[in-house]
Amino acid sequence: MMSAPANLDEISFAALLEVVHALGRDVVRPAAVAVDKDARFPHEAFTEFKKHKLLSAYVPRHYGGMGLSITEICKICEILGGYCASTAMIFAMHQIQVACIVHHCDSSEFFQNFLRELVREQYLLASATTELGVGGDLRSSLCAIKANDEHFTLEKQAPVISYGVAADYVMVTCRRAEDAQSSDQVQVLVNKKDTTLEQLSGWDTLGFRGTCSAGFVLRSTGHVQQIQPAPFADILAQSMHPVSHLVWGSLWLGLAQDAVSQARASVRAAARKNPSTPPISAMRLTELDEVLFSMRAGLVTAIAEYQQKLDAGNREAFSDFGFSIRINNVKLRCSELVVDIVSGALSIVGIMGYKNDTPNSLCRHVRDAYGAALMVNNDRIRGHNSAMQIMVRDAQ
Ligand SMILES: Cc1cc2nc3c(=O)[nH]c(=O)nc-3n(C[C@H](O)[C@H](O)[C@H](O)COP(=O)(O)OP(=O)(O)OC[C@H]3O[C@@H](n4cnc5c(N)ncnc54)[C@H](O)[C@@H]3O)c2cc1C
Repeated sequence: MMSAPANLDEISFAALLEVVHALGRDVVRPAAVAVDKDARFPHEAFTEFKKHKLLSAYVPRHYGGMGLSITEICKICEILGGYCASTAMIFAMHQIQVACIVHHCDSSEFFQNFLRELVREQYLLASATTELGVGGDLRSSLCAIKANDEHFTLEKQAPVISYGVAADYVMVTCRRAEDAQSSDQVQVLVNKKDTTLEQLSGWDTLGFRGTCSAGFVLRSTGHVQQIQPAPFADILAQSMHPVSHLVWGSLWLGLAQDAVSQARASVRAAARKNPSTPPISAMRLTELDEVLFSMRAGLVTAIAEYQQKLDAGNREAFSDFGFSIRINNVKLRCSELVVDIVSGALSIVGIMGYKNDTPNSLCRHVRDAYGAALMVNNDRIRGHNSAMQIMVRDAQ
């Protein structure tokens, strides 16, 4: 196993990717079958990620983090997705919460100090946006902050909180106050030490089993400083929405890429057996590689656009309908293409991919791939896009 380099902050990004690949090979992949089978948290991977300070990879350098860009975070998600999609998903979901703090902490000493502490302690951050009664509608909350002077209490019926048990903090969306409209929302960072999680439901699912996304009644107390000053609507438009779809798309790309690699190995083996005639599966592989190419192309274009907007520092640019549509398109296309690609790979690998207990098994890939379209249901996203299509001037 790799030891943590003395000063990871100062190594090049290429060298960091080597570290991530080594962790993927030595730690993440060997645990992937057990994580999936037992639907358990990938603790060995996260012990290593913390040792390598990867949980603060997106925290800017002036707070002590690695200061990676969103493009670089996406690359790490893609690599991890090739080793274990559940592990990659937890890593990606944590980075979404970190980005929501990094991009919106300007006016809050509490959140700036929290980032410094996150670097030191390597806290794992979870998220509770989904709520019983409103489902996956991010822009609507039933639960509300009850503030009394400087302190608050909060109770949320959350049907899905990924790695809620393993997390150190949970970012919770809720109404600003008991008399606020359902869309007048804030995000609150609750400390698990001040929180109880009463389990509502389990997580015995088709895929993404290692994310341990059980349902809970979350009850917490804290100081009002833990409420993010920016309205949730702004945090969503500028950070949560684009970052989620880009990091998810990246790890789904890694998952798809790994399935194609398995298919390629299988075609190569067939070609070796009969060198005079190319196997029919080589044609299938070529088609699959074309689909993978378009999945990557759309994703990379959207990552570049978001990165450019972040670098320009123009927050108004995020409210552009065309941008929102393109970010949604990434989610829609990547979540559907990943299913096409892994099932295409399965038909190439054949029975050895269909079996659970072979080195070429693609069962986990197929099951994980089907979760992608449900993470904020694609119909809900298409509904938003169809409303925006009417208003946008020119969708690129
Ligand atoms: C692996 C995984 C991990 C997750 N982790 C978390 C987490 O950590 N925290 C968290 O808060 N959530 C999490 N979620 C929840 C997720 O992000 C979605 O919010 C949730 O799956 C939505 O549940 P739903 O399909 O029941 O609800 P809905 O999105 O409400 O959809 C239910 C049905 O209604 C339809 N529908 C509803 N409204 C509309 C509309 N306006 N337009 C069109 N169709 C509509 C949908 O098409 C769908 O068929 C996770 C989900 C998965 C799969």
